Amino acid sequence: MAEVILKNVSKVYDGGKPAVKNVNIEIKDKEFVVLVGPSGCGKSTTLRMIAGLEEITEGDIYIDGKRVNDVSPKDRDIAMVFQNYALYPHMTVFENMAFGLKLRKFPKEEIKARVTDASKILGLEEFLQRKPKALSGGQRQRVAVGRAIVRKPKVFLFDEPLSNLDAKLRVQMRTEISKLHHSLEATMIYVTHDQTEAMTMGDKIVIMKDGVVNQIDTPLNLYNYPSNRFVAGFIGSPSMNFIEGRIIDNNALGFISKGSGLQLKLNSGYEKKLNGFTNKDIWLGIRPEDIYDIHAVERPSFNKIDVNLEVVEPMGNEIFLYFPIDGIQFTARIPAREKPEPHKKSELYFDTGKLHFFDKESEIAI
Ligand code: ADP
Ligand code: MG
Repeated sequence: MAEVILKNVSKVYDGGKPAVKNVNIEIKDKEFVVLVGPSGCGKSTTLRMIAGLEEITEGDIYIDGKRVNDVSPKDRDIAMVFQNYALYPHMTVFENMAFGLKLRKFPKEEIKARVTDASKILGLEEFLQRKPKALSGGQRQRVAVGRAIVRKPKVFLFDEPLSNLDAKLRVQMRTEISKLHHSLEATMIYVTHDQTEAMTMGDKIVIMKDGVVNQIDTPLNLYNYPSNRFVAGFIGSPSMNFIEGRIIDNNALGFISKGSGLQLKLNSGYEKKLNGFTNKDIWLGIRPEDIYDIHAVERPSFNKIDVNLEVVEPMGNEIFLYFPIDGIQFTARIPAREKPEPHKKSELYFDTGKLHFFDKESEIAI
């Protein structure tokens, strides 16, 4: 059992602004939780408070039901893996992995058994006698993970462990860490600024902005039901399109953008949700894959829009279309069939069954 609970946790660095504000997170035993958000939003600070490397200004942290605010890092039964590996250059891979156990005065035989086990899991057996400088970036990162595994901690903490790797290796290590989570059956808390990593790895995702938790949910719920405009724009690539406008109700429900470039009929299914928002300023959001071209099969919820395609980007398996509405750049993402001509007028179809609405002031989802 290793459950981690943060209750009203805040952090103010000396003379600084609050870095983490009143954070509440419950992490269940064996869960893989990802903390994600833009640089500087307080992810590392949160993780370091869990590790005991940063003092908690306010609130409480519990590991397995025990309040650990005043427990030293070495007594918290956690292991942390950093972005920069932090390996000792003069030690071999074996010695690097054994180091923490040696410090804790584990018997030699036990150390050997644990390092051997971990090196098998990570495919490092043939490198045990090498020094870090004779390893690739991916192998070094594996050693750093191995050093955590040998400790058999209750909780693994990862702080952007893949950021120094090239794109291909990053994808490979992503699946390796996911497999590791499965085989070790450990609680893992993983920090990244990369929404794709978060979406693919997390059982549960915590989205932070400016030290504040914006939403905690499963990847699919975050994608389909973002709680505010920030979350809606942060999750998903290419990002959701946003445009300002108003809900109108002249016999039938509709949306008209501020510059009148986008006018949509809304089906009656939205009536309840948008009740009270008629003639109020709102943000409308639509994901790039919910905009279709002429080849799509006609659906009742499609609204035809005439646009001027500025850029057409063939990606191989799909095509990205860029076009302005009211001077704002929109992106559509369509299957790779016939490539539309750029710099031409084109008909696109907005799926009004897939719209998102946000309050203009608070930006909270309607
Ligand atoms: P993230 O990991 O999400 O990029 P951090 O937790 O590192 O964000 O930082 C959150 C905020 O706290 C930032 O504004 C950062 O400048 C500030 N900060 C981080 N560490 C310190 C420190 N040791 N002293 C003062 N301010 C810090
Ligand atoms: Mg960080």
